[in-house]
Amino acid sequence: MRLALLGSPVAHSLSPVMHRAALAHIGRSGDYQARDVDKAGLLASLREIRTGSLAGANVTMPHKALAFESCDRPVDRALRVRAVNTLVLRNGELVGENTDIDGVQSAWSAAGLSLDQPVVVLGAGGAAAAALVATEGRPQYVVARNLERAQSVIDHIGAEASVVEWGTPVPLGVVINATSLGMKGESLPAGVLDSAVGLLDMAYGDAVTPAVTDAAMRGLPVADGLDMLVGQAVVSFSLWTGAEVEAAVFRRAAEDELLKRSQSWTRVEE
Ligand code: NDP
Repeated sequence: MRLALLGSPVAHSLSPVMHRAALAHIGRSGDYQARDVDKAGLLASLREIRTGSLAGANVTMPHKALAFESCDRPVDRALRVRAVNTLVLRNGELVGENTDIDGVQSAWSAAGLSLDQPVVVLGAGGAAAAALVATEGRPQYVVARNLERAQSVIDHIGAEASVVEWGTPVPLGVVINATSLGMKGESLPAGVLDSAVGLLDMAYGDAVTPAVTDAAMRGLPVADGLDMLVGQAVVSFSLWTGAEVEAAVFRRAAEDELLKRSQSWTRVEE
């Protein structure tokens, strides 16, 4: 079974090690490769899925919107979010799914984040839209620097969220960081976590983000980007293979890879 990650850049991605571990776990031969693709490369990979030479794919930045536009049928929730992160062939149709929504939900429950408090989403891109769909039913706020973009996301989803100026803290909310802040060690705007009751930080890199460290030091329940990455991977894998592989298999593979990377950096520095 041949699977792929389509995006650019993808060299840093933990998805190949996670999905290879899951394939080995269920005794299925095959591979999952990261492909650094431009628009034409994405469309060529979509053709490979249609012809069956690829069994499915994940899509990452910057191609989730293009995958949404180019698949034959986005499922309803992908249609609401206008972003596709998983492609699978069903009865000859290239179906677009969005398992980032599942990733938010599983990270949320694993971390014991509040189900009653307001949700404060930072950012107004595809990840923010997935967060809004994943947490609907609660009071929602979107904190963004582009207020028009934020309103457009809310309107398209049909959420009842309020738009808030970037950097303004919302009291007693669970903060979801759906921006890239933190991936290169950047902090969230000052004060955003001051009266928060939890954090889900979608950003992840090879080191813990400042927001996750800050929230943990405040004693808040925290889910990090790896929790979410594992959650979305479990569901994508099940869509391709029909197999339910527990999250621990994916997580162990990702953590082993992160450890390997940190050891190789230490050796380089020595
Ligand atoms: P998009 O580029 O579609 O949206 C990013 C959003 O973040 C935009 O609203 C952008 O603002 C905002 N933003 C970016 N930088 C800043 C900044 N310095 N200050 C304020 N706002 C900022 O990306 P996605 O929504 O697809 O992804 C967002 C993040 O979530 C990425 O880092 C991605 O890696 C992560 N992610 C993690 C996943 C996981 O499994 N852990 C899954 C999916 C995403 P503006 O609109 O003004 O440009």
